[in-house]
Amino acid sequence: MTKEKIAGKHKVAGNILECPICRSDEFWTRRTLMNTPGMTLAGIEWANKSADNYVCNSCGHVLWFINTK
Ligand SMILES: [Zn+2]
Repeated sequence: MTKEKIAGKHKVAGNILECPICRSDEFWTRRTLMNTPGMTLAGIEWANKSADNYVCNSCGHVLWFINTK
């Protein structure tokens, strides 16, 4: 299964994302689960959150937003 990385503009908290490094506003996204087996056993709740990664399509800088819902 092949998934293409489609870059585009994204809004977070009402603002269009802009790369702090190269000023590009084209990002592609991926979701990362924050949990690890060790963390889960220790009962650390925030460790089970997922995070949205926005990867700059120009320079590769990664912005992380932890999903708190
Ligand atoms: Zn960049």
